[in-house]
Amino acid sequence: MTSPKSALFPRTQRQGLQANGFMDEYEDTPVLRFSPTAWAKLLYFRDKTDNEVGGFGITDPDDLLFVKEFVTVKQKVSCVSVCFDDNAVADYFDEQVDFGRKPEQFARCWLHTHPGGCAGPSGTDEDTFKRAFGACHWAVMFILSQDNQIYARLRFNVGPCGEVLIPVEVDYNSPFEASDQNQWKTEYENNVKPERHRPTVDKDEKDFGYVDLDGDDPIGGFIDELEEMDYEERMLLIEEIAQRPDLLEQDSEEVLI
Ligand SMILES: [Zn+2]
Repeated sequence: MTSPKSALFPRTQRQGLQANGFMDEYEDTPVLRFSPTAWAKLLYFRDKTDNEVGGFGITDPDDLLFVKEFVTVKQKVSCVSVCFDDNAVADYFDEQVDFGRKPEQFARCWLHTHPGGCAGPSGTDEDTFKRAFGACHWAVMFILSQDNQIYARLRFNVGPCGEVLIPVEVDYNSPFEASDQNQWKTEYENNVKPERHRPTVDKDEKDFGYVDLDGDDPIGGFIDELEEMDYEERMLLIEEIAQRPDLLEQDSEEVLI
């Protein structure tokens, strides 16, 4: 980002998109652009957590690939997933319609962050993109990783269909608003809730899964109790457990990893 419109992702060949009317607007390779404010907010949310965080990009009707705002909704997140709350998404859509916006302005650019170094979409991301955005005429999946890798893919689901990786830029040419970290912090705290779970292996299906620890799970309760203890009290207990290797021997049906 050394020049006002430096590309954050190399331009790639567009493939099979010319037949779509959408491309009339973009004679060159389409570029996903961010206002500096939207970009700064995305970075802020990414850097608040070691989990993924997701949201929608909001655009003007005459510039559908220029994200002027990054907006989050209530979501449960982990280091490998983002799950938007259905009611929160419905409320967000209602609110945007009330603002006079059309769905292509607020529900086509799906933006999320990855805590690690890889911005490539996971299998879950691909499933979500297909399930949640597959019925739209077009949609963008954008991923930003912790170490600034970027992935942006524009997909058309009409006409001959097609998809292409597109470059990403921060566009400093249009006026933009100042950052508002107080509001971003409030939004983050209201909307982004980490899942509390641990990975398990199901012995029969040999498959990975997750156990939700928010309920009556005794281990979740135990960890909560540990968190509430004084430092000395906690260390005493941990030392006592360390003296009892027999406690670590496997004796249950479920294998924890
Ligand atoms: Zn992802």
